[in-house]
Amino acid sequence: MKTIYLSLGSNQGNREAYLQEAIDRLSQARVSVLRISSVYETEPQDFPDQPWFLNLVLEGSTELFPMQLLSRIQAIEAELGRSRRIPKGPRTIDIDILLFGRFVVDAPRLVIPHPRLHQRRFVLEPLAEIAPELRHPVFRKSMRELLEGTKDQAVRKSAFRPALPGA
Ligand code: ADP
Ligand code: MG
Repeated sequence: MKTIYLSLGSNQGNREAYLQEAIDRLSQARVSVLRISSVYETEPQDFPDQPWFLNLVLEGSTELFPMQLLSRIQAIEAELGRSRRIPKGPRTIDIDILLFGRFVVDAPRLVIPHPRLHQRRFVLEPLAEIAPELRHPVFRKSMRELLEGTKDQAVRKSAFRPALPGA
């Protein structure tokens, strides 16, 4: 069993419902969802002219291999109606693998730790909330320390609290 951290984001349609549905589907795809951060409303970073995102980070555990997890995630994105017409553009759901145990992966379709994790407040704010002392396996800094470098990006806490599957 490996402990994993996933980032979920939505900025199209019923964003809360897409987040909850993705969490429920992950738990049916051999990912035990252990903890879920607060939900943050965040300004789009790469392609600014689009609605704000809802973002969260979850901690889970799985027996899947990294590539198997990526396939499950991409299947869930497709089932929830994600289209990739505009790169970095609006999406019903985006699920990224942030960390997978202490694994470092550098494959054409999969890079772990996620290559932009350390630059993104919309990832680090929720990640530091549930795992402040967790260390980045490459940069060797804690999530709390990495977060300090991204305070210029706007985020605000949302009132929405997704339910843990089976709770
Ligand atoms: P982004 O998340 O960068 O906005 P996409 O969700 O469309 O964009 O993902 C683009 C590609 O990133 C995917 O096809 C996937 O193969 C690749 N990828 C590389 N590393 C990861 C990772 N750690 N988690 C999720 N996808 C990844
Ligand atoms: Mg993605």
